[in-house]
Amino acid sequence: MSAIEKLKCLIIGSGPAGFTAAIYASRANMSPVLYQGLQPGGQLTTTTDVDNFPGYSKGVNGTQMMVDLEEQAKRFGTDVRSGMITKVDFNGPVHKVWVDDKLEIHADTIIISTGASARYLGLDSEQHYLSNGGGVSACAVCDGFFYKGQETVIVGAGDSACEEASYLANICTKVTMLVRKGEFRASKIMADRVRGIENIEILHNTELDEVLGDGNVVTGVRVVNNQTKEKHEIPCTGAFIAIGHTPNTKVFSPWLTMDESGYIVNNPGSSKTNIEGVFVSGDAADHVYRQAVTAAGTGCMAALDAERYLAAKGLH
Ligand code: NDP
Repeated sequence: MSAIEKLKCLIIGSGPAGFTAAIYASRANMSPVLYQGLQPGGQLTTTTDVDNFPGYSKGVNGTQMMVDLEEQAKRFGTDVRSGMITKVDFNGPVHKVWVDDKLEIHADTIIISTGASARYLGLDSEQHYLSNGGGVSACAVCDGFFYKGQETVIVGAGDSACEEASYLANICTKVTMLVRKGEFRASKIMADRVRGIENIEILHNTELDEVLGDGNVVTGVRVVNNQTKEKHEIPCTGAFIAIGHTPNTKVFSPWLTMDESGYIVNNPGSSKTNIEGVFVSGDAADHVYRQAVTAAGTGCMAALDAERYLAAKGLH
């Protein structure tokens, strides 16, 4: 049997929340270990340019930004490792986790920054123009600006889709919303808002059939009416997918209080969860803002909360 590793602070997740927590925790001498998971760098590595993170006056490539954050965390001594947390046991003051079903870690504090994954339709054409940054995106606030003065399409009918459609309508000449049912999922107030915006066209009973393009950039979409089966094409340069997110929190579900979608519930105004010594930051607890800068902010909160917890328990 391999030895159990004991840590003051374990950080799970390598997006802006995890690395910001790591910068603060390592500067506070908490000797943090950060596990990166399956998608090192998190959701920002699926985007191209990040233009809205304060301090990067000329914008920054999403992957580069995560490389910079990792280097910054390492500069202060963060031990960055690869591996998935496959099991946890939060029954008691020492929090137990297992990495890849092998290594057992006992940590005084744990900071969960596992993020959320945007849901996609799964079409090959969608994935192609998503991965090459050619015009498919799951975040209008992040990428909408690149479509200024252009026509875009958005898929989805929840509060997020409505919010993102309104946001795009302020930037784009026209926004077409594809709603697969006869009604919206969104709250009435949000649905009424998009219905009232002149340059938003809403197509009900309509699904995205294919993203069209020249191989490099999107030039339009083909849609299908799921009642009549009729198909037609809509010219556009951007296709936004807003069909929800899945928080990466399943492994913690027996222990932590979560909402019905699986987002970890934190004590308002702090990063504390229902388990003492376990803190949450970033999109794993946030289905509303979901920005790199808000994730980084809550990563800082989690490290400060963890440090105060250690000090109060005489562990630091
Ligand atoms: P939701 O799960 O609420 O909505 C997802 C939407 O995507 C639904 O309209 C669903 O359609 C549609 N959808 C799912 N799969 C497909 C598919 N394959 N093809 C086409 N459409 C599809 O997710 P949201 O991200 O909108 O919201 C998540 C949570 O966050 C909600 O609780 C929401 O209220 C909240 N939120 C609140 C905000 C606010 O208060 N300002 C802002 C943003 C989010 P269908 O309806 O047919 O199932």
